Amino acid sequence: DIIFKNVEKTFGKTKVIEHLDLHIREGERLILLGPSGCGKSTTLRMIAGLETISSGELVMEGKCVNDVPAGKRGVSMVFQNYALYPHMTVRDNICYALKAHKEEKEEIEKRLQMVLKIFGLETYVNRKPKELSGGQRQRVALARALVKRSPYLLLDEPLSNLDAQLRLQARKELVKVHQYYHQTFIYVTHDQVEAMTLGNRIALMREGKLMMLDTPYNVYHRPANVFTAKFIGSPA
Ligand code: ATP
Ligand code: MG
Repeated sequence: DIIFKNVEKTFGKTKVIEHLDLHIREGERLILLGPSGCGKSTTLRMIAGLETISSGELVMEGKCVNDVPAGKRGVSMVFQNYALYPHMTVRDNICYALKAHKEEKEEIEKRLQMVLKIFGLETYVNRKPKELSGGQRQRVALARALVKRSPYLLLDEPLSNLDAQLRLQARKELVKVHQYYHQTFIYVTHDQVEAMTLGNRIALMREGKLMMLDTPYNVYHRPANVFTAKFIGSPA
């Protein structure tokens, strides 16, 4: 589990996360939903260990990880801006972490072929990021994160640049992967439909605060406040 205990995050004098208490359960698909600038990416980056915690405690698997470096948290992240290695081919981008972990060659190749197939990237394997479209780059970023099979997968708007058809397909694949590898997904989006269809639970944020945390059904049918009802578009 991942537990935020009264976590605050400030940049300079600006508080961007306030009194965050949030318990993410092992194996769930938790959606972080909310308007632009509400603190979704920051929350994800704190879990990844890419942002420090200004006060409070972040607990993972029973231990406070405030001071545990990113590489030791068992997380993979798909970044909002992809963050691919520009000088590496698609193949090397995807396999880099596995090679660094000294995974066996055949195993690496097997996993590579699997993610290439999932995301229809077989023909791009020798290209570099700058030779790909935005949507193709986004799929490489997803493939690179999935191939590691980390306990926690952090996804920051991972499908934002795909067309409707690819997005639908990728959603289905993500659900399958999730069921297969029993990962915990923490999935950022500002798309209500994506949240409703992909989440076991939705955490709705506004200006650094958690407004509601519940199942998609309850968020839609029993919104805890006016903001939630409006944001989700609940029936009046
Ligand atoms: P979006 O949907 O647009 O990606 P978000 O919910 O992911 O938004 P964050 O990126 O978490 O929002 O940003 C939350 C707030 O923190 C914003 O007001 C942003 O300007 C601010 N912020 C984020 N990173 C920094 C930083 N490094 N320094 C100062 N302010 C920052
Ligand atoms: Mg963001």
